[in-house]
Amino acid sequence: MDVVHTRAACADALDRARAADRTVGLVPTMGALHAGHTSLIARARAECDVVVVTIFVNPLQFGDPDDIAAYPRTLDHDLACAEAGADVVFVPSVREMYPSWPDPPATTVSVRGVSEVWEGASRPGHFDGVATVVAKLFSVAGRCRAYFGLKDFQQLAVVRQLTEDLALPVEVVGCPIVREPDGLAFSSRNVRLSPAERAAATVLSRALAAGRAALAGGERSSVAVRAAMRAVVETEPLVDLDYAAVVDARTLADPAHVGDLAGVRLLIAARVGPVRLIDNCAAVAEDLAVAMPTGSQAALHGVPHPADAPRQLERIG
Ligand code: AMP
Repeated sequence: MDVVHTRAACADALDRARAADRTVGLVPTMGALHAGHTSLIARARAECDVVVVTIFVNPLQFGDPDDIAAYPRTLDHDLACAEAGADVVFVPSVREMYPSWPDPPATTVSVRGVSEVWEGASRPGHFDGVATVVAKLFSVAGRCRAYFGLKDFQQLAVVRQLTEDLALPVEVVGCPIVREPDGLAFSSRNVRLSPAERAAATVLSRALAAGRAALAGGERSSVAVRAAMRAVVETEPLVDLDYAAVVDARTLADPAHVGDLAGVRLLIAARVGPVRLIDNCAAVAEDLAVAMPTGSQAALHGVPHPADAPRQLERIG
């Protein structure tokens, strides 16, 4: 595995791979790798000849200076995790990505519409930072498949839109959410939770399960489905809900009346102690028809993925 720090070295390694008729899989991350990230690396490994993992804590996408200062940085651990599937790990400095830093780059990418709601409304400028760094990483990587988690559902929508609008030679692949056995989605920020907050954080996936159950029971008013999710979150005093939403999975708009469940996504964001967490799920699990354990967690997440037991994967996307 080659660890490279410059755009030129990264681009060169991938150009050489393509010149030898090898396909390239790109996995962009901010490090502090966990099972969610390694699932993306494993998927890229299975589908591409050469896998490049990028590790860059992108300052352009953080509005809150405390959040970026507290963001976990675990490079040795990350390189050990990447070793199993990556051929190249690109670890640029901030100046390598943004030579004018601390002045931001003159050119940034802004995706109208899908960037403006939910996370975009709560974190102004966040998706401009994401879109800018992703466009730049795609430019460095060149023609490839790029693997993103459905965990950041809105981010995936933003990335798909910018890829199409800028005609970038990248096939964007969305990958299922990997969860802890108790339903909490893996996130680099989970390590900042105290034991009590960590226990309370399961309320996000429990609220999603309640929203999904309301829809499965025939509820079609999005106000009522949102209220069902909110009621679950309100049972946890350590958790402060930002939003719980029922949206069109393509446009992220929230219709008053929920239509065909196949195109519906449930989104949630909440502050748990010092940490802001997000989660989401499809309105209908693809595997709801198969025999499953009982309980809200099983109903939400489906059965364990054989390759990842005892962790649980949501069978979506
Ligand atoms: P991050 O390092 O948080 O920027 O995440 C890098 C990539 O990993 C993004 O595409 C995320 O959506 C994805 N990811 C993060 N957590 C998970 C998870 N629990 N399951 C699947 N993918 C994830």
